[in-house]
Amino acid sequence: MIRLGCEQDRAAVLRIQSEVLAAAGAFLRREGFLEILPVLLSPITDPLHHETYSTVVDYYGVPYQLTKSMIFHKQIALRTLARIFCFSPNVRMEPVERAAAGRYLAEFVQLDLEVRGATRTDILRLGERLLVTVLECVADRCAGELSRLGRELHIPAVPFREIPYAEAARSFGEPFDDALSGTLTEPAWVIDFPRDVREFYDREDPARPDVLLDMDLVYPQGFGEALSGGEREHEPRRIRDRLRRDGIPEGRFAAYLKVADRGLPRSAGFGIGIERLTRFIAGLERIEDARLFSKVPGDTAAM
Ligand code: AMP
Ligand code: MG
Repeated sequence: MIRLGCEQDRAAVLRIQSEVLAAAGAFLRREGFLEILPVLLSPITDPLHHETYSTVVDYYGVPYQLTKSMIFHKQIALRTLARIFCFSPNVRMEPVERAAAGRYLAEFVQLDLEVRGATRTDILRLGERLLVTVLECVADRCAGELSRLGRELHIPAVPFREIPYAEAARSFGEPFDDALSGTLTEPAWVIDFPRDVREFYDREDPARPDVLLDMDLVYPQGFGEALSGGEREHEPRRIRDRLRRDGIPEGRFAAYLKVADRGLPRSAGFGIGIERLTRFIAGLERIEDARLFSKVPGDTAAM
């Protein structure tokens, strides 16, 4: 993993990133997806499973939040369109201790996608093809940039390995992302997270209570988590049940529940962090080298 030495190195990373954006967008359009515009302000956003500092904004006297992820807006958008993606800016004021890991920013962009009627298996296969296509395009179009950065890109074989969460936890303890990623030479899926480590919107397997129909993709070579996703709870009764079991008052998600009562389609999808993907492809030690105007948690000199 490298640190950038000069502006030419930085330019090489940004050219790679620009190719990533173009290749991912083109792939999804070929797959019948429509790009939608991001939402920045809303009364509802992802509750996340870890503490972040508040990003509440005074919206004409009503507290709105800056987007932490577009999960709920994606589900609602599927009432109108069947296959959607969005380059979605997220603001998550991560705890300062997270800065040391080299893969957290307070402001980052997710390529967030969702598919009406899809199963987790559909999305696993789609995610693999997306990653492989992006890697192939970058290898083909950015050979000079990769060689400048000393990065040799390996195109992984599909399908990727699928590792149940319980098996990874047994082998590496919890959390296992770093340890698992350090042993991988190809990306791998982690599937079947336990309910209590994820958010209420990931669908619980009707056949296995407390096991979710969800996944993470983990990069090889110690680059850690690439994406998170899964099938979604869409039935109002199940959504309310999950909120209750997570101890979240329904009022916090009133706007979402109101739409869910009118009908949300069954769906699955994921969000993949663009800066983390750029970091992996360019072989960067730290995520702040993977974009301009990086905001490392706690860095108040950022602009
Ligand atoms: P999540 O649903 O919280 O897992 O977020 C989806 C994806 O966004 C993750 O798998 C990462 O690729 C990326 N991501 C999440 N949080 C951050 C962060 N603080 N900085 C950079 N990328 C992030
Ligand atoms: Mg995640």
